[in-house]
Amino acid sequence: MQDRYDVVIAGGAIMGSSTAWYLKKELGWSGSVLVVEKDPTYARSATMLSAASIRQQFSTPENIRLSRYGIELMHSLKERFGPDADIGFHEEGYLTLASEAGVPILKSNHAIQMAEGSDIELIGPDEIARRWPYFSTEGVALAAYGRSGEGWFDAWMWLDMIRKSAKAAGADYAHAAVVGIEKEGDKVTSVTLSDGRKIACGTFVNAAGPAAGDVAKLAGIELPVEPRKRFVYVVHCREQVPNLPMLIDGTAVASGVYVRPEGQFFICGVSPDEETDARAADDDFDVDYSLFDELIWPALATRIPAFEALKLIRAWAGHYDFHTFDHNAVVGRHPEISNFVFCNGFSGHGCQQGPGAGRAVAELIAFGEYRSIDLSVFGYDRLAAGRKVVEANII
Ligand SMILES: Cc1cc2nc3c(=O)[nH]c(=O)nc-3n(C[C@H](O)[C@H](O)[C@H](O)COP(=O)(O)OP(=O)(O)OC[C@H]3O[C@@H](n4cnc5c(N)ncnc54)[C@H](O)[C@@H]3O)c2cc1C
Repeated sequence: MQDRYDVVIAGGAIMGSSTAWYLKKELGWSGSVLVVEKDPTYARSATMLSAASIRQQFSTPENIRLSRYGIELMHSLKERFGPDADIGFHEEGYLTLASEAGVPILKSNHAIQMAEGSDIELIGPDEIARRWPYFSTEGVALAAYGRSGEGWFDAWMWLDMIRKSAKAAGADYAHAAVVGIEKEGDKVTSVTLSDGRKIACGTFVNAAGPAAGDVAKLAGIELPVEPRKRFVYVVHCREQVPNLPMLIDGTAVASGVYVRPEGQFFICGVSPDEETDARAADDDFDVDYSLFDELIWPALATRIPAFEALKLIRAWAGHYDFHTFDHNAVVGRHPEISNFVFCNGFSGHGCQQGPGAGRAVAELIAFGEYRSIDLSVFGYDRLAAGRKVVEANII
C-alpha cells in the first residue's frame, strides 16, 4: 500500500467496489485507487444482507436508468468478467399489485417506465388469475408486471465478481476503517485509518453504506443517511407455487408485503410503518419475528392461500442505507469540499444500482462530468435547497 492515492474510497461493498472497478477496469484510468474496507467478510454490509432483487418499476427516471445498467451488465457477464462469470440471475419479473386507490400512481409510474423503454405491462385481476391460478385477486384492481429486465440474483456473487475484477485491474484494498478525514481549506487532503496509518488522497469517495452519515461527519459534513433495520424471512411452502415473480402486494390486503422464490424456498418481508421506523444501533441485527407472525404471514396467506401452510426456516436483519431526506441516493461532489464525493443513501435499491452508481462516480472523477447517466438530480445541493426527489416506489 502506498502513502498517497489519487482516489481513496471508504467502504468496499457494492458502491465502493463498483467505483473502483469502473475506474480501473472499464475506463482503464491511470490514477491510483485504494478501497478501505473495515470488514472484508462484508458479513454485515447492506449488500450481503439485501434481498438482491432488480427492477425497473421506479417512478424516478434516473433510478430506472441506473437499474437498467445493472441489467445490461447481468446480460453481458461473460463478455465482461470471463466465461465463468455467473451471479445466479433469475429474470422472472416483478409483479406489483395495486388496489383501486393505487391505480392512478401505478399508471403514472408505468408511463414513466415505458418512456424509459422498460418492458412492463399492466394487467387486470382476470389476467392475474389466468397466469397464476393459485392467487386470490381480492382487493386487486390493477398490476404491473415486468416481462423482462427484472428479477433477482446472488448478492455475494455480484459483489465478489466486481471486487475481484477491480483488484485484478489494479485497485488496492486495505483492511481497516476510515476513522479520520483531514482537510485543508475546502479540500480533503488525507484519511486516517484505524491502524494509525495516514493516507494522502486526491479525491475521497464515501461508499460506507448505512455508516455514510458517520463517515461524512468525519469531514464535518452533515449527511442524513443512517442505518434502518429491515428483516428478510426465509420460508418453505409444501404446496407448489410455480413461476411466482417478485410479488409486491401494494393493496390494502397486504400493506406492501413482498415475496419471491429463493431456490427451494421463498423470501419475504415488508417495509415498516414510517412512524415506527427509526435509526438502528450499529450492532443491532436482532430479528423481529412478530412482524412475520402478525403481518407478513397472514397477508401472504390471503393473497396465496397455499402459503397458509408456510414453515419459517430462518430470518435475518440487515441495515438499509436510509436517506431520511427523501429516501433516494446522494451522488456526486460536495458543493464546497469538491474532492469529497458521495455515493450514498440508496435506501433499499442500491444492490442493483451499484455498478450504475459506481460508473457515474468514476466518470465524475475521470472526466469531471457524468457521461452515461446524468445523476445531478441526486446531488447533495438538493438538501440545502429543500428539493426532494421523491421515489414513489420504495420497497
Ligand atoms: C434487508 C435488505 C434488503 C434489501 N433489498 C434490496 C434489493 O432487493 N435490491 C437492491 O437493489 N437493494 C436492496 N437493498 C439495499 C442495498 O443492499 C443497499 O442499498 C446497497 O447494498 C448499499 O451498498 P453500499 O456499498 O453503499 O453499502 P454496504 O453494502 O453496507 O457497504 C458499506 C461498506 O462500508 C464499510 N464501512 C462502513 N464504514 C466504514 C469505515 N468507516 N471505513 C471503512 N469501511 C467502512 C462496511 O463494512 C461495508 O462493507 C436491501 C438492503 C437490506 C438491508
